[in-house]
Amino acid sequence: MARVEGYVEIDTERCKGCGLCINACPTKVLEFDMGTFNSKGYHPARYKGTGCIACGFCYMMCPDVCITVYRSVPATVGK
Ligand code: SF4
Ligand code: SF4
Repeated sequence: MARVEGYVEIDTERCKGCGLCINACPTKVLEFDMGTFNSKGYHPARYKGTGCIACGFCYMMCPDVCITVYRSVPATVGK
């Protein structure tokens, strides 16, 4: 079975830094961006850059619908 590679985009301006997505991620690839504040004064969540499996848990948990999950399946699928 092909390994699914995921990627997430986070709307950092809408993020309120609650951490629910970080706790929900089974591969622990989300974290707070401690070097950044958004205009509301929160440290937003960010994707570490690798390891997302596109499970969608972060998307489902975010109360402010800040997260978009992308799924990429290698072209060899089905061959
Ligand atoms: S889609 Fe799943 S693996 Fe990817 S960042 Fe969200 S919770 Fe983590
Ligand atoms: S669940 Fe949503 S609002 Fe909470 S930290 Fe994650 S992206 Fe930000």
